[in-house]
This record gives sequence, structure tokens and C-alpha cells, in this order.
Amino acid sequence: MRSFADDTLLIATHNQGKLEEIARLLEPFGVTVVSAGEKSLPEPEETEDTFVGNARIKAHAAARATGMPALADDSGLCIDALDGAPGVRTADWAETPSGRDFTMAMTRAWQELEDKAAPHPRKAHFRCTLVLAWPDGHDEVFEGMVDGAIVWPMRGTEGHGYDPIFQPDGSALTFGEMDRWEKNAISHRAEAFRKLIESCFAG
Ligand code: IMP
Repeated sequence: MRSFADDTLLIATHNQGKLEEIARLLEPFGVTVVSAGEKSLPEPEETEDTFVGNARIKAHAAARATGMPALADDSGLCIDALDGAPGVRTADWAETPSGRDFTMAMTRAWQELEDKAAPHPRKAHFRCTLVLAWPDGHDEVFEGMVDGAIVWPMRGTEGHGYDPIFQPDGSALTFGEMDRWEKNAISHRAEAFRKLIESCFAG
């Protein structure tokens, strides 16, 4: 396992929200973060059909282009009765010509489950894959996952994306009804980050 020994880490994202979240998580380790957006790097096409494949594309493209270590994340929702959909297409289900519409995406997920008369509980999980890549081509991969069920109607106004229809196992609340701290205690992204920090930053 390779440790991160530089001062500055490139975050392979053009998403300001993701950048701020990652910067906060890495602050205690004295790491400065800079984003692919700030470096005006192009956004590579995510052509793989796995989370790790797409995270690798983003992390290696950024590391190669800048000569700096780069971190990318790829995440999504997998619904058992829909054969794992939307999966790597999770963000795409929300795309409209005028931006992302997650009410539309959640309605689609529910409608497809209804069309199949899928039995309850409608099991699903969120996954998050992190890839830390170095310019010499080496990388380290970390994964987090949280199991739960798709519920309807949508509940809660916290969080983002598909949070209002995802109820993690063992909780009476959806992610949309949890505050940031409650969600971070169990989320797929928090788990992947805990593993990354333990392996590459804490030593
Ligand atoms: P990415 O930015 O290409 O990795 O897209 C991931 C998509 O998965 C996002 O657009 C969200 O819709 C969805 N997603 C990932 N994690 C979460 C979560 O914690 N809550 C709700 N939606 C999520």
C-alpha cells in the first residue's frame, strides 16, 4: 500500500460540492487540495461499466495531465430488482437539457419497480469507489457500501440525489431525513474515505 507523501492532492472532479467535502475530510492531514476544474483539465468520458473503471479513468487522466497524485470518486445507487440499475448510470437518469432533475430520476426508479411489481422490501445499495492514482501509473482503490431499501413516497429534504427514497437497513429514516452527521456515520462515501485515510494518510 503506497502512502500519500506530497503536500498537494489533485481532486479529479469539476464538482465544487465534492471538492469542498473532500477538502474538509483531508484538512487534518495538512493536505492542500486543488481541483481538476481549477486546473482547467477536460472532463474525460466515463466509458466503463463499473464504478472502479470510471473512477480509474478520472484519476489517471488527471494524474497524467498534471504530474500530480490525483483522487477520483465514482458512486451510485444499485437496485436489486432492476438488475443493479441505475448503477454507473445513476447521474445520467437525472439529466435533462436544463440540468439534473432528481425528482424525475427517483420517480423513474419507483415506476420501474411498480411496473415489475417488485416485492417489498425493494433492496438496494449505494456504492462509492475512490481511486488514488500517481503519475507513474500506480493506484490504490477503496470501496464503501451501504445496504437499504427503496421506499415511496420520497421522504426528507436533507442530502442530495436519491437520498429521499433510500432507507438504510436498521434505520427508520431515509437518508433525506438524516442530518449530515447521521448520514456520515453510515454512508458508502464515508466508509470509503475512512479506508483511504487509514491506508494512505494516517501513517
Ligand atoms: P458521480 O458524480 O458520477 O459519481 O455520480 C454519482 C451519482 O450517484 C450522483 O449524481 C447522485 O445522484 C448519486 N449518489 C451518489 N451518492 C449518493 C448519496 O449519498 N445520496 C444520494 N445520491 C447519491
